[in-house]
Amino acid sequence: MMGMVGSGRYAPSPSGDLHVGNLRTALIAWACARSKDLGFVMRMEDLDERVRPQYVQSQLADLKALGIDWDGEVLFQSERLPAYEEVVTQLQERGLLYECYCTRADIREAPTAPHAPPGSYPGTCRDLTEKERDEGRKKLEIMSRGPALRLRTNNDTLTFTDRVCGEFTGHIDDFVIRRGDGVMAYNLVAVVDDEYQHVHQVVRADDLLDSTPRQIYLQQLLGFATPEYYHVPLVVNEQGQRLAKRDGAVTLAQLAEQGMGTEKVFAMIATSLGSKAETATEFLESFDPSTLRRGPWTFTAPETSQN
Ligand code: GLU
Repeated sequence: MMGMVGSGRYAPSPSGDLHVGNLRTALIAWACARSKDLGFVMRMEDLDERVRPQYVQSQLADLKALGIDWDGEVLFQSERLPAYEEVVTQLQERGLLYECYCTRADIREAPTAPHAPPGSYPGTCRDLTEKERDEGRKKLEIMSRGPALRLRTNNDTLTFTDRVCGEFTGHIDDFVIRRGDGVMAYNLVAVVDDEYQHVHQVVRADDLLDSTPRQIYLQQLLGFATPEYYHVPLVVNEQGQRLAKRDGAVTLAQLAEQGMGTEKVFAMIATSLGSKAETATEFLESFDPSTLRRGPWTFTAPETSQN
């Protein structure tokens, strides 16, 4: 349960049905938490404009169909805006935020700071004069946008040890805390909610490995504990690309249409993890988080019928 022992979590974005890769990550997250007698909590990352309410229900139903359960109510980020505002205000009062007027093109075209990897924020708006800020706001107004808020970081690297991927070092640039359209940025809300939900263990896909040093940096600034991290491999198609809708039947509903029921999908996911389990309970009995490996799982989707 949420509380003293801490929890693992699964935090999908309800912008589509979960595909087999998402379901596999969810099963691992659940089994990691339960195998260590942690709670397991569910969170809907529903701040983005791509979110559709119907996917909240279908995602939860699919997770349940696989035998994944969770403690307490599902947390919706859309109901947490005052909590995020409070943290933004705190950071602002500490002088740690500044307005950024850069467009994507501005960032692309600016020379990157020495030692910073490509794509890092070059610091363009970090030390502007009041007059320059006024000009920046006016420039954005014409595009009907507002400034983003960025965190004034030390632009250094941060190293942590992932339980699957091992030691990982990321460069911390002045990353976005609140986007130009007013939406709170993923790194902020993930950190605030992991703390709020007493998350001691984060299991998620390894496309987010890169974000983790930033999240740890923010946890340290806010005085939050850092959870243990397990970044598990993405599922890829036969070309080695990240699995997507165009790959055919990839969700439980689509696979069922192709004659592959939930039990078969479960068995396939379990097999990919070296388990002969037929149910989540059986899977948990023999699950050992320390055996998780880095290699991607290649999934061949049955062709969807074209009628
Ligand atoms: N909502 C993110 C996703 O669906 C996951 C975020 C996280 O686990 O921290 O990719």
